[in-house]
Amino acid sequence: MTARVLVVDDIAANVKLLEAKLSAEYFDVISASNGPDGLRLAAEQKPDIVLLDVMMPGMDGFEVCRRLKSSPDTAHIPVVMVTALDQPSDRVQGLDAGADDFLTKPVNDIALFARVKSLVRLKMMTDELRMREATGHSLGVTDASEMLRPNAPEAGGRILLVEDRETSARRTLDALSGEHELKLTADPIEALMLARDGDFDLVVLSLSLQNTDGMRLCSQLKTLESTRHTPILALVEEGDTKRLVRALEIGINDYLIRPLDRNELLARVKTQIKRKRYSDRLRQNLQLSLEMAITDQLTGLYNRRYMSRHLDTQLKFALEAKKPLSFLIMDIDFFKSINDSHGHAIGDEILRGFASRLKANVRGIDLACRYGGEEFVVIMPETDVAFAYAVAERLRQNVADVPFAISSGGGPLTVTVSIGVTSIERPDETADSILKRADQALYRAKRDGRNRVVAEAA
Ligand code: GH3
Ligand code: MG
Ligand code: MG
Repeated sequence: MTARVLVVDDIAANVKLLEAKLSAEYFDVISASNGPDGLRLAAEQKPDIVLLDVMMPGMDGFEVCRRLKSSPDTAHIPVVMVTALDQPSDRVQGLDAGADDFLTKPVNDIALFARVKSLVRLKMMTDELRMREATGHSLGVTDASEMLRPNAPEAGGRILLVEDRETSARRTLDALSGEHELKLTADPIEALMLARDGDFDLVVLSLSLQNTDGMRLCSQLKTLESTRHTPILALVEEGDTKRLVRALEIGINDYLIRPLDRNELLARVKTQIKRKRYSDRLRQNLQLSLEMAITDQLTGLYNRRYMSRHLDTQLKFALEAKKPLSFLIMDIDFFKSINDSHGHAIGDEILRGFASRLKANVRGIDLACRYGGEEFVVIMPETDVAFAYAVAERLRQNVADVPFAISSGGGPLTVTVSIGVTSIERPDETADSILKRADQALYRAKRDGRNRVVAEAA
């Protein structure tokens, strides 16, 4: 993993030391000796992570962190506070300022690399999602106002606590249940099932369960598709560095050393829930933009771009497998006059109504799409021309026989549609030749008086 690390510390010897350790692991290191220089470098050089000294003259580390986290240019860069004082209150203040983690001086190598790597990995994942989301915006398929609000609410989380020590469990429940909803279990099998079905924002898990291997549970949670996005906050015995490092390698998201400090527990839980909700939102937006990229907004049918791709794939498959494939193209008759006499909004209603009848009249394997304006197409795999003709005729009749209800007064409107049908016939068939033939059939249907289906042979 190569990543750029920005080290901000006013003492040159500290910078040198971290630089040496990180460079030895092939990190690219840049450094600043005060807060304002650190902020400038962070904005200019876009590091993947910032290691930030707390005590600096002038602007202290907390302030630098707050500024990094409040600027949209740098808010997504993980910040690790490096503090000489092993004071829980310091850590809490840092988390409140938006820091992602802590290291205490003198910096322990194993902890340094484990934390830096885990935060860099997290950042690369969110960078990728952010990038895809930006692509979605540039295609105009997601709402820009929904873009990245990193400050998602972090209260009211659902937390699964896996702990078999009663006093410790009670103390953790006491600390967290004021702000969050908790579920406690000591059984690893039950924990897995709960995590899978319970829609939790966070799993708080003891690594030192007495009758079972907490590590194994971590690894199962991080492997299962349904739980691998749920963050894990591990509770570790003081001095159990070996287990901690392995757990970090497995992919736990954060840890607390016993005895637990109540405020630090609260703050770390908050940070994990906030991050989880942030990446959930990115993933949802991505899903939404993918759907929007292939869907026609007015009718909910597939759009033309998607249909073209799909036709290529289906055609290739049908030709190779020597299976039939049929294609319908349809155009609503005199649609312009519907717009002219009832208005564009009513025109839209008719298009939506037509689309839902179209969906109701084709099979699940058929792909219905809005080709443009008042034109629609259906790709029908494994279908010969006679069957396709029958489907088209049934749809035409339904449209003509059952007038379309409209919202604004007036009676239902009678609408008709003309349909061209064709099937693949030659081994050298292309998407263009099929479209062209279907178009010719549609043209004949229009010319011969509309409200009819015409099949065109090659
Ligand atoms: P024909 O029977 O020959 O198909 O006549 P037509 O009036 O249906 O065909 P024409 O191509 O002349 O007109 C199509 C009209 O569809 C023109 C256009 O304004 C309208 N239209 C295209 N897209 C939309 C839309 O999204 N909403 C609405 N309301 N109208 C649309
Ligand atoms: Mg038209
Ligand atoms: Mg038309």
